Amino acid sequence: MMAADLMNCSRCGRVFAFRGKTICSKCIEKMEKDFVIVRRYLQKHAGSGIREIEENTGVDEQTIIQFMREGRLVGEGTVNLLKCDNCGSSIKEGRYCEKCLYEISCKLRSVMPSPEVSSVEQNNRTVRGAMYSRENLGPMGKNK
Ligand SMILES: [Zn+2]
Ligand SMILES: [Zn+2]
Repeated sequence: MMAADLMNCSRCGRVFAFRGKTICSKCIEKMEKDFVIVRRYLQKHAGSGIREIEENTGVDEQTIIQFMREGRLVGEGTVNLLKCDNCGSSIKEGRYCEKCLYEISCKLRSVMPSPEVSSVEQNNRTVRGAMYSRENLGPMGKNK
């Protein structure tokens, strides 16, 4: 018996067969088009802010940020637009700066149940982290 691995697209919510991505083929197609548009825009307008790119290309901010996190716009005129989720310093790709990545990986290695953090909050973090690393296997994905 074949069980199709169905899930909801994290962008449009449509149910689709999971193939290693958390978004459906329609959204992937749309993102590829958006990527070409954003890259073309940046080639002419290097150093634009995310808002500026969004306004002039019609590509939404989240999509632009996603491209940056995947490292796809590195060297395309996006300077200092991405910020570390933890400390807010400028980064080129991913979610965290190298310093925070190091600190986080140290913390992950010594995971101890903390009475100060509610279990609900910890669960949320785990789920969100897992979804992110499944879609985008960055350096974080290797840490166990
Ligand atoms: Zn979709
Ligand atoms: Zn940081």
